[in-house]
Amino acid sequence: MSDSAAREALCRMGERLYTRGLVHGTAGNLSLRVEDGWLVTPTNTCLGELDPARLSRLDADGRFIGGDKPSKEAFLHTSVYAVRPDAEAIIHTHSTHSVAVSCLDHPEGCPVLPPLTAYYIMRVGELALVPYYRPGDERLADAVRDAAIKHACVLLANHGPVIAGKGLNEALYALEELEETAKIHLLLEGRKTRPLTPEAVAELLAG
Ligand SMILES: [Zn+2]
Repeated sequence: MSDSAAREALCRMGERLYTRGLVHGTAGNLSLRVEDGWLVTPTNTCLGELDPARLSRLDADGRFIGGDKPSKEAFLHTSVYAVRPDAEAIIHTHSTHSVAVSCLDHPEGCPVLPPLTAYYIMRVGELALVPYYRPGDERLADAVRDAAIKHACVLLANHGPVIAGKGLNEALYALEELEETAKIHLLLEGRKTRPLTPEAVAELLAG
């Protein structure tokens, strides 16, 4: 993908996320792998109004080399790319229902979200939960890196999801599936539910 095509694609994705209500205000950030580095959305920017010429450019070592100053959360992206060489794009949002689930008390060893539907397993797989750290705390970068080794979809406690994909669309579809499943999970609260069996989940994960 050429530099200009990548810039357009990132801005279009920002607009889609904003239009669909998956991001609000200046929350959330996106990145896309380009030759010799990454494009990242700038700090304090509304994803619905991105300017292709002002996107932040990082070099192959994750250093800021051009455009507007990158998002303060760019380290979430570089932490994931460091351990997922197949990741081409990352979407991080503060989407309402996913954040709500990230604030629940999750017992150790239980899945963050129950396997309610086949599509959730196929798009999101096993969702990792990263404990809460203050914004800017370096331990958050380490925790995200550790979780991303095995998980393309990571949920930051009391914060929101970080989703890696082979392209922007794959990351978007996983994010949307996560957000809708979070909504369903909250709708079902207090009701007796029948999640997929471990056998059914294993069959879906095996592809
Ligand atoms: Zn965030």
